[in-house]
This record gives sequence, C-alpha cells and structure tokens, in this order.
Amino acid sequence: MNSAAPDPCLSPSQAAHVIVVGAGPTGASLARLLALRGIRVTLIEASRSFQRIFRGQALMPSGLEAIAQMGLSATVETVPHETLDAWEFWIEGKRLFRVNEPMNFSGAATGPPCTLVSQPEFLDALIQQADACDTFEFLPATPVRDLVWEQQRVVGVSLGDGRILNADLVIATDGRNSMLRDKAGLTLDSLSHAIDILWFSLEDAPPLRDENVFHAVVKHGNSFGLFRSSQGQLQLGWGLHRGDDRNWKTEDWPEVLAEHSPDWLAAYFRQNASCFQPPVKFSVTVGRAPQWSKPGFLILGDAAHPMSPIRAQGINMAFRDAIATANHLVPVLTGQGQAAVDQTVIDQALDAIQAEREPEIIQAQALQAEELAQGEKLRNYPILRWGASRFAPIVGLGVRQSWLRRQRPLRLGVVPLTLEV
Ligand SMILES: Cc1cc2nc3c(=O)[nH]c(=O)nc-3n(C[C@H](O)[C@H](O)[C@H](O)COP(=O)(O)OP(=O)(O)OC[C@H]3O[C@@H](n4cnc5c(N)ncnc54)[C@H](O)[C@@H]3O)c2cc1C
Repeated sequence: MNSAAPDPCLSPSQAAHVIVVGAGPTGASLARLLALRGIRVTLIEASRSFQRIFRGQALMPSGLEAIAQMGLSATVETVPHETLDAWEFWIEGKRLFRVNEPMNFSGAATGPPCTLVSQPEFLDALIQQADACDTFEFLPATPVRDLVWEQQRVVGVSLGDGRILNADLVIATDGRNSMLRDKAGLTLDSLSHAIDILWFSLEDAPPLRDENVFHAVVKHGNSFGLFRSSQGQLQLGWGLHRGDDRNWKTEDWPEVLAEHSPDWLAAYFRQNASCFQPPVKFSVTVGRAPQWSKPGFLILGDAAHPMSPIRAQGINMAFRDAIATANHLVPVLTGQGQAAVDQTVIDQALDAIQAEREPEIIQAQALQAEELAQGEKLRNYPILRWGASRFAPIVGLGVRQSWLRRQRPLRLGVVPLTLEV
C-alpha cells in the first residue's frame, strides 16, 4: 500500500487533454491522479466553495485503503477527521446489539475503523495538490452547460459563460442528478428506495461526548441514525418514508426524537431542545446507468451509479472508481507504446472501466437494499419489533451475526483493487 506523501508531478508526455466536470470526491480524486501522471486536465466545478454543499463524510476501510493507495493518508491527517468507536442498534428503546470499531471478522481485525473525514477541506487539499502540476487547471464557479459533439463524438463542453473548451475526453462526475448524463443520451435505471433523509446538525453534549458511536434507533416504525461528525457536531439523519404525510417543517422535532429514543437519549434531546435548527431534506436517488460511455465521453461516481446513503458507500465507491479509471486511462492518454493518442483505444478503455467497476457497484447496491429491507420489515411488523425488544439479549446475538455478515463486503470492497499506474 502506498501511503506516502503526494506523488510529484510527472512531466507531460504528450498532448492528451481531459475535461473532468464536477469536483466532488470522484472528479477531484481522478483529476489529481491524472494530472500527477502528466496528463493535461481541466477540472470544472459549478460551485464557488465546497463549504456550501452538504457532503457525506463516512469512509469505510475500502475508501481509506483507496486514499492510502492514492498517497493521501497524510492529507487526511491535515483535515478535520474523527474515527467511529462503535455501532449500536436500539429497538423500541432497548439496545439490540453493539459492534466495536475496528470491526473484527472471524477473529481478525480487518482494516482501520470507519472514519469521518470533512469533505470540503479534503477536496480543497486534493485540488491544491493537483494545482502544483503545470498540466492541471481548475475552474471553480463555472457551470458546464452542454456537451460539444463532432461526428457523433464528444469533443468538448460549453460553459455557462458561453466559452467552449475542447478535449480528447470528457468525464462527467457531476453527481446523481448528472445533467451531462442526460445530454449524452445515457439513461439511469432507478432502483427503488423508500426513504428520503431529513438531516439535523446538533450540539455535541454529554452523554454523547464520551465515545463516537453510530446509534441506529428504530421505534414505532420510524428510524434515525446519530453520530459525531468530523467537525465535532452531532449529525442526525431521520428516514422520511415516501408516503409519510407528516408536515416535517412544523414538527416539534426534539419531542418526536425523544419519543423514539431510549431514556438516556430522550433526556439529551429534551435538554438541548432550544438548540435545534430546522432539518434539511435530501432526496435520495439510487440507480445505475446501463451504459457509462459514448465516444469521447464517460460518466463516473454518482453520475453513473448513485448510491444509497445506507452504510456510507458513495465516497468509497467514488475513490475506487478513480483508481480503476486511472489504471485504464493513464497508459492510453500518455500514448504509451503509440505515436499519438488513439481515439479508438480511448473508447475501448471506457468500456473496460465500466466492465471492471460494475460488478462491485451491483453487489454494494444489493447489500444496501438488503439493509433497507431489514429496516422495512421492522417498520411494517410491530410484532417483530416487540419480539426483538422483548428478547433483545437473545435475538440481538443472531441479528448481530447477520448484520456483520453484510458489513464485510460493504467495508472491505467486493473486488480487489490496486492503483497500478
Ligand atoms: C444524506 C446523504 C448522506 C451521505 N453520506 C455519505 C457518507 O457518509 N459516506 C459516503 O461514502 N457517501 C455518503 N453519501 C453519498 C455520497 O455523498 C455520494 O455518493 C458522493 O458524494 C458521490 O461523489 P461524486 O463526486 O460522484 O458526486 P458529488 O459529490 O455529487 O459531486 C458532484 C459535483 O459536481 C458538481 N456539478 C454538478 N453539475 C455540474 C455542472 N453542470 N457543471 C460543473 N459542476 C457540476 C457539483 O457541484 C458537485 O460538486 C451520502 C449521500 C446523502 C444524500
């Protein structure tokens, strides 16, 4: 594993130019990798500042391993981050089970603990490192408006200010509602996902301060997750089921949360009721594009496969997409073994990227759906919730085992992946 300081920039080998649209985890990490390897990259981001956009932050061992391979472990140390101590599951006010971090599979500790890394600062650091290369250009506050085509091949993008930029390859990493995916005529097969998320930021206070535990709480057919973020604030995500007709904007949330909580947590919500800010609603999209590329054009990250927030997979998959893509593209974009960059070879590499990444994405989304289905069962069958809470010490053991079985691939990744370029 390469966990050293960032690689020095290689000198540009020839004139291949890649445009990456969207500087989220996928786009920023890929643009940096390509720039460090001497490829000319223009990274274009619609927002002026990452601080204003909500970003998930939980990284599993597979994401941390990808970070190490990209030479970014030391960078994580320079931005706000916080490890998780444990996961605890509460049902109808009773603790069902607890699992400590780092998780232990078959007696062997596997990987570092789940770590919360502040994405705005991390993305800024990636861009700063790429910026040290002459081959890299970053255009913030610059929305891309459309693709530019020539003889059924994407040859560039048009910007909001009317400028046109040309490139050998355009990579759209513009997130789950990817406009460029639509502009390229690529489709998204939506996978059913029964919940949106209401997101609360809360003051850290006793008794939650001692440990950073991800508390998953289920009661009366509702559920929420609570943990401490990398900035030391508590973050709470309430699953808002589609068809739930509550007026979430006017709810007395401290009281609603207290009613769903074990006594010690209910006391926290009531004592800190005056600090509550209204929640933000996130619509969750989950799906997969059947086709990820067109000649001269590739979609990646959430643009190709928007992930459910369940068990924090999206950023981990984003970094793993970047590694697989660099493995395929660096040789062809640097013209290794060729006199000039060959468009046919680039397009073949795009197909190979999808073929390599798709199996892991399919399995991770299936495991996330399994997690959600378990929650839905508890939500829909009060008898199950009653039984689980009444016999928590015994039932909890079995549920813990089945939960741990699903976590292994979700934490470690489904396929082996190594940065080879
Ligand atoms: C509530 C919630 C919580 C989550 N928590 C976690 C978590 O803890 N851990 C985890 O691993 N995943 C989490 N996820 C998922 C994760 O956020 C995504 O999977 C991940 O951000 C995808 O990265 P991306 O770079 O592909 O896309 P994004 O992060 O969406 O980045 C896309 C970028 O493209 C830019 N952009 C869009 N359109 C244009 C345009 N036309 N021109 C230029 N730029 C453009 C956007 O401004 C944005 O910066 C969560 C998701 C949700 C909804």
